[in-house]
Amino acid sequence: MTKFVYLFKEGNQTMKNLLGGKGANLAEMSKIGMPVPQGFTVTTEACNDYYARGKKIAPEIIEQIEKALAATEKLEGKKFGDANDPFLVSVRSGARASMPGMMDTILNLGLNDESVKGLAKLTGNTRFAYDSYRRFIQMFSDVVMEIDKEKYEELLAEMKERKGAEFDTDLGDQDLVDLVGEFKALYLKLKGEEFPQDPKEQLIEAITAVFRSWDNPRANTYRRLNHIPYEWGTAVNVQAMVFGNMGDTSGTGVAFTRNPSDGTKVLYGEYLFNAQGEDVVAGIRTPKPISELQKDNEGIYNQFVEISNKLEAHYRDMQDLEFTIQKGKLYILQTRNGKRTAQAALKIAIDLVKEGVLTEKEALLKVEPSQLDSLLHPQFNPASLGKAKLIATGLNASPGAATGRVAFSADRAKELKEMDGLPVILVRQETSPEDIEGMIVASGILTSRGGMTSHAAVVARGMGRCCVAGAGSVRVSEAKKIFEVNGETYKEGDWISLDGSTGKIYGEKVETMDATVSGDFETLMSWADKFASLEVRTNADNPRDAKVAFDFGAKGIGLCRTEHMFFEADRISSVREMIVAKNEEERKAALAKLLPMQREDFIGLYKEMQGFPVTIRYLDPPLHEFLPTEADDIKALAKDMGITEKELNATINDLHETNPMLGHRGVRLSVTYPEIAEMQTRAVIEAAIEVNKSGMSVKPEIMIPLVGELKELKYIKDVVVKTANQIIKDAKVDLKYSVGTMIEVPRAALLADEIAQEAEFFSFGTNDLTQMTFGFSRDDAGKFLKDYYDKKIFVNDPFAHVDQKGVGKLMKMASELGKQTRPDIKLGICGEHGGDPLSIEFCHAIGLTYVSCSPFRVPIARLAAAHANI
Ligand code: ADP
Ligand code: MG
Ligand code: MG
Repeated sequence: MTKFVYLFKEGNQTMKNLLGGKGANLAEMSKIGMPVPQGFTVTTEACNDYYARGKKIAPEIIEQIEKALAATEKLEGKKFGDANDPFLVSVRSGARASMPGMMDTILNLGLNDESVKGLAKLTGNTRFAYDSYRRFIQMFSDVVMEIDKEKYEELLAEMKERKGAEFDTDLGDQDLVDLVGEFKALYLKLKGEEFPQDPKEQLIEAITAVFRSWDNPRANTYRRLNHIPYEWGTAVNVQAMVFGNMGDTSGTGVAFTRNPSDGTKVLYGEYLFNAQGEDVVAGIRTPKPISELQKDNEGIYNQFVEISNKLEAHYRDMQDLEFTIQKGKLYILQTRNGKRTAQAALKIAIDLVKEGVLTEKEALLKVEPSQLDSLLHPQFNPASLGKAKLIATGLNASPGAATGRVAFSADRAKELKEMDGLPVILVRQETSPEDIEGMIVASGILTSRGGMTSHAAVVARGMGRCCVAGAGSVRVSEAKKIFEVNGETYKEGDWISLDGSTGKIYGEKVETMDATVSGDFETLMSWADKFASLEVRTNADNPRDAKVAFDFGAKGIGLCRTEHMFFEADRISSVREMIVAKNEEERKAALAKLLPMQREDFIGLYKEMQGFPVTIRYLDPPLHEFLPTEADDIKALAKDMGITEKELNATINDLHETNPMLGHRGVRLSVTYPEIAEMQTRAVIEAAIEVNKSGMSVKPEIMIPLVGELKELKYIKDVVVKTANQIIKDAKVDLKYSVGTMIEVPRAALLADEIAQEAEFFSFGTNDLTQMTFGFSRDDAGKFLKDYYDKKIFVNDPFAHVDQKGVGKLMKMASELGKQTRPDIKLGICGEHGGDPLSIEFCHAIGLTYVSCSPFRVPIARLAAAHANI
């Protein structure tokens, strides 16, 4: 019989897949003698079994739960459901990967109308007993019965108002007894039945609810964002309660063993006396910094410091701890590797190497490539910042600079952003998991309540989003859609700016500027290059981007889209002239105008790359992107070309295609008009000769797009080679160049051995390859892919992460076939996927030579390439 339930003392930290992260670490901590309340874990397999059975817990699993409960009762010396001294438990979800706030915890389970009296009598603390019961009713209703917890919060708020209590801790014994009465009445009203009194029933209902919550929309969104497979399932931990709400010698808190914001080595956290569970993170009362615990209770503080040091040494990483103090006795309720900002991740990784705890390789694995993104993004321009009006300061919860328009709800944030693409800042009293999608679209998050470990702060740090939290002087009214600060009012749509590194809030738009790689970042990158085998190049169409990429460590250009060089207003007309030309003569005239521009562009690119390879992809203009559509443009072009608008319109009509992405583009265009390839070759080669005069040694790589047939490639290659060799001969220089192709039409992948007879290198154009393999348009797929995620047909966007199964199979096959023909063939990727860590891992696995990505992804790709090879 499968074992579906493990006591804490039966598990250890290696069992994350089965016990979830929380369960495995609770087991590990009890193994190494930490003060952990006892309990047991129902496995992730039990969760999968629950779904496999049509959402039912099997009788044998229930039996195992009952046995584990009995064993735990024995360890704790109490009885579940005992009317005089009830054994109470928490029911806590815990998947393999931490999913903060995604699934809710139920505390104080096991209480009912009888045992609450027993608990009050036993502890001599009526307030405590009824406070525990009201919390239990609220959490159980919310998680198990899906009753909005706000309804209970309102009753609590009304009670506080009636009693003139500022905080819930100001309420007295009778107030809490009354509140429990009100809560139960509300439950009865909404559910049509009494609050469940049988503890065993409560327990099974709660475990079921945790399993069910694995499939709620919030969890599904979070999983998709973080690439967590649905199949993993969640485990459930049932644990003996300890109480932080037993009075002033009790409390609860959270702490990091290092500062999660900047990585400095200091114990960092917050706690509240006379509080329970989520009180600290929910921003209900403002918690105290952990350093004050030293004054409040030196003994406990010292014990806590000792434990946190032990745990950090044991896990060899910064830990995020949850603890509770019950009447002066310390308990640890959770530990895990703490989430941190990119900046902190770098510092901690490097410090742990300096401290001799980690090797360089291990340290590299402590930094998530995608996390670096936040360091590569804009900072405030100091000049602009100097003039900006500071309106308030909050906590520097997650670094970065953000400027945007104020929105007071997640939905409005999404709407505003979608309306015009301009940045948005989400402003809330505090955030909750419901706000997650708004936090994703927002450039920054501002809250008026809550500390460094509030929901907003934790989630923003995880996403690398700028966040200023707990700005107490900012008074937010979500209902009125305004916030007030120092007597001034800001409305929805007003511009503000946030500095997540200092916590400063500015009442206007502040200009931002680009980031650079230095210090810890540079150190880590140099380690990454040591251990990576994949090279990282960049996609760049102009010297400006090429320079950014070079400074970020790109070892060449993997894709220069030559048509992009002509998007600028004063140049596009020449491209249009070329496209609509009616004969070779006209076309050559247009090309002659393009040649010097192209040559100059290439000179600029070669210079920025300082001798690293530069791959130039020949013109690939889907015609619909280049033909004029506006009447003004048509008029101007006709005038330039000395033809009538009518004539021009007729040509445009002739060129109209029903499926432009499958149309007359890429190599096809050059097959019809070889003079285009001729002109581009001239520009590529002449530019190289020019730059090499100054002592550089540029070796251009000429890349022909959209090839699907060997003869097609050969036809163009002959044009290229003939032109290039003639120029080289005339110039009497020695210049090496190579000619290769993109693999982006599935037929090219299928026939890659043939194609490699002519192609000296392959570069996978995975945008088109994905589009053509799936047969859906990359410009429109977004509209229906959402339904595919909702229905769990697709987990990921295949345009963001290479579809390893299908598209990846073509890539792997093409690589192998290419090598058969040409063992030293260079293999690269230049689609958007080249900057995606998951795809990079795959590229490494199938033996590519390099990945090429946009300049701002270069450091991410360098780290991902190292990860792939460690
Ligand atoms: P999350 O995954 O959202 O952090 P947890 O399961 O860790 O949820 O529970 C949240 C909080 O509830 C804990 O930080 C702790 O304060 C409290 N809690 C959970 N279990 C217990 C327990 N057995 N005794 C006391 N407090 C508990
Ligand atoms: Mg927790
Ligand atoms: Mg393409």
